[in-house]
Amino acid sequence: MSVLIFVETQEGKLKKSAREAASYGAKLAGKLGTDAVAVAVGKIDHSELATLGQQGVSKVLHEENAKLDHFDSRAFTKVVAAAADKAGATILILSSTFNGKALAPRLSVRLKAGVVTNATELANTEGTFTVKKAVFSGKGVANFTFATDKKIITVNANSFPIAKGEGSAAVEDFSAGLADSDFGVKVLHVEKAGEGIPLPEAELVVSAGRGLKGPENWGMIEEMANLLHAATACSRAVSDVDWRPHHEHVGQTGLTISPNLYIAVGISGAIQHLAGVSSSKTIVVINVDPEAPFFKAADYGIVGDAFAVVPKLNEALKKYYANN
Ligand SMILES: Cc1cc2nc3c(=O)[nH]c(=O)nc-3n(C[C@H](O)[C@H](O)[C@H](O)COP(=O)(O)OP(=O)(O)OC[C@H]3O[C@@H](n4cnc5c(N)ncnc54)[C@H](O)[C@@H]3O)c2cc1C
Repeated sequence: MSVLIFVETQEGKLKKSAREAASYGAKLAGKLGTDAVAVAVGKIDHSELATLGQQGVSKVLHEENAKLDHFDSRAFTKVVAAAADKAGATILILSSTFNGKALAPRLSVRLKAGVVTNATELANTEGTFTVKKAVFSGKGVANFTFATDKKIITVNANSFPIAKGEGSAAVEDFSAGLADSDFGVKVLHVEKAGEGIPLPEAELVVSAGRGLKGPENWGMIEEMANLLHAATACSRAVSDVDWRPHHEHVGQTGLTISPNLYIAVGISGAIQHLAGVSSSKTIVVINVDPEAPFFKAADYGIVGDAFAVVPKLNEALKKYYANN
């Protein structure tokens, strides 16, 4: 028995969410008195994979195959399932990313395993094995248990701290023996949506809505994001009218994020918007209307005109970074 962690990579590097999942899986393995084994897919140096030892992983199985440089849920499922078999894993840990959530149900069918997505805390292994997860668009939490021997858990971003130990993981080449028929799609061309910090991975996010009046006013939002090394996001009302690109839209019909800090400027806080951001650790709301619903979800609120408040905050940030 072992705990297997699927670690996601991007441009030859481990993603932050991969290290979070690895830390989660290794901690769980420690509680259960077993090993944490990771599986990585695609082009990445063994030296980078070995650093997963810092998160407590003892071994990494690495399937490198030029066809796997782009995500394909069918092929990746086969690799992760074969790795679970090889590692004798009864528990699989994935990140709650688009890829993690595409793989979890496929692996569930293949391995006859139950799935709990969006875990927010380490599973409780005393007595009944339970996993706490966010429900009702982040408005509640619930404990789930499994009716199956094999268990799959996907871990929410920024829910579990990255362990920073000293170890180095052993890296082993691995092949699931993929055939052409294992690939469902062929990637012809990839265009990056934008530079900067990817929103799902960001620890700090500066977001704005219709209160900004027009796309020409986003300069101060981008300036704040640059000063804080944050990603930018927006409400759907704003992306629907093309003031901002759709990949920045958060909420029920957009991305669900849980950064450490979410700053919302000129966003009313409609339930559909909150559905995507309410699990942020700290929420700061800047809105001219003291009755704006977002203030109810805020940890800190500034009632004021964004065009007066944001430039002042940017000046304060510049002064702070100049002296620190
Ligand atoms: C099925 C469905 C799904 C949806 N999914 C999503 C979703 O995923 N994400 C999402 O965001 N929305 C979603 N919506 C839309 C949602 O209901 C709201 O309409 C939308 O979030 C409103 O965007 P907003 O807050 O930017 O705009 P508004 O509601 O117009 O709010 C603008 C805010 O700016 C404030 N303001 C105005 N001027 C200033 C100023 N100078 N300084 C500071 N504040 C100012 C106002 O007081 C107001 O609170 C969905 C709706 C439906 C029906």
